[in-house]
Amino acid sequence: MTLARETLLGPAYFRHRGLIARSRSWTADDIRRYEQARLARLARRYGAGVTSKSDYRSHPERFLRWDLPPLTHTVRTGGTSGQPLAFRADVLGRRQKERAYLFDIWADAGYAPHDLRVVYRGNVHDQLVRFDRLENAWNVSPSATTEAQLGTLREWVSQLPPFFLHVYPSSLFTFIDLVGEKLFRRLPVRGVLAGSEGFPAGERLRFERDYGIRVAHWYGHSEYAVLAYCCRRCQGFHFYPTYGHAELLPASPPDADGLSRIIATSFNRIGTQFVRYDTGDLAVAAQGACADQFTRASSIAGRSQEVFTDLAGRKRALGTYVFGIHGTFWDHLRDLQFVQDEPGRLQVLVVPSPSADRAEIERTLEHRLPMVRLGFEYVTAIERGANGKRRYFVSRSAGPS
Ligand SMILES: [Zn+2]
Repeated sequence: MTLARETLLGPAYFRHRGLIARSRSWTADDIRRYEQARLARLARRYGAGVTSKSDYRSHPERFLRWDLPPLTHTVRTGGTSGQPLAFRADVLGRRQKERAYLFDIWADAGYAPHDLRVVYRGNVHDQLVRFDRLENAWNVSPSATTEAQLGTLREWVSQLPPFFLHVYPSSLFTFIDLVGEKLFRRLPVRGVLAGSEGFPAGERLRFERDYGIRVAHWYGHSEYAVLAYCCRRCQGFHFYPTYGHAELLPASPPDADGLSRIIATSFNRIGTQFVRYDTGDLAVAAQGACADQFTRASSIAGRSQEVFTDLAGRKRALGTYVFGIHGTFWDHLRDLQFVQDEPGRLQVLVVPSPSADRAEIERTLEHRLPMVRLGFEYVTAIERGANGKRRYFVSRSAGPS
């Protein structure tokens, strides 16, 4: 990429690129000092208590700083995880900052700024594919990928020069199904960029091994207060100290799974300032050490809404049981979904792989989920949302949810 093009990425991009590079050599003490200075300033302004979505909804002005339209605008969180939240953000700076960190994460898959991407992430438009010159990215519209269009899609994709595939973990496999496994293996995919939702470590590693393609994976959330990348050394998630501050606090009431809530403090100086904000996401606190000093969680257990009720009536985060499965389990299936139709019972929808050992699938899950009755259903496909995403967990239970 040329210097002129990179200059277009803007001053906040370069400031954060510099911060990322510097913070790589910080010790745990350096990180603490950097974060504490900012946290103390925010605590003086907003208090030091943990805040929740409802605080920002009922008193948006309380957390607002430097709201200067048109330099600031309203951002709304997605509606898939409950009622959306509207907040104010810096129009230019936020995007530039975001890019600095995402590009750093994507570099793990070999990506360099302005490399060609094919995006299959729910950017719905009426054409099958649309080119975005500024992003150097082709956007494939999931809703346009009807049976009648698949021939065109395959023809188009097979003529592309080497590219990075930018997906949700759950839409990656939809994309492979759409273009066909055989063709997909022949495509010059340089790497996969898959974030914004859970990607079980075992499934991710199987994909890398099976297809010989590296995957960059990360955790972020719609309020842009903290961001973590999945580490190749420990398979855990490290939070960038210069992006925002992440705390892992015990879930309340403390549950048997030992899960932690992800509490996020944004270091953004313009717009809504999220201060010790309960993201509603859950993580498993890290065990052991990693050479990387950034704050770490050993896995992200998913949205706290992805919670099932076991036979004893206890609530449990599904991600903890499923995302940690390693080994050959993932070789036996193409897709998976858990449906809670009544408390104490989960219906497991499985799209088996051609060589699937169904007994092993059932044995593995029964072994990991002894606290709930499991029913298995083998299907040819799992229904997707309009954006190509498949949900890991669906609750149809009439019981308390
Ligand atoms: Zn690590």
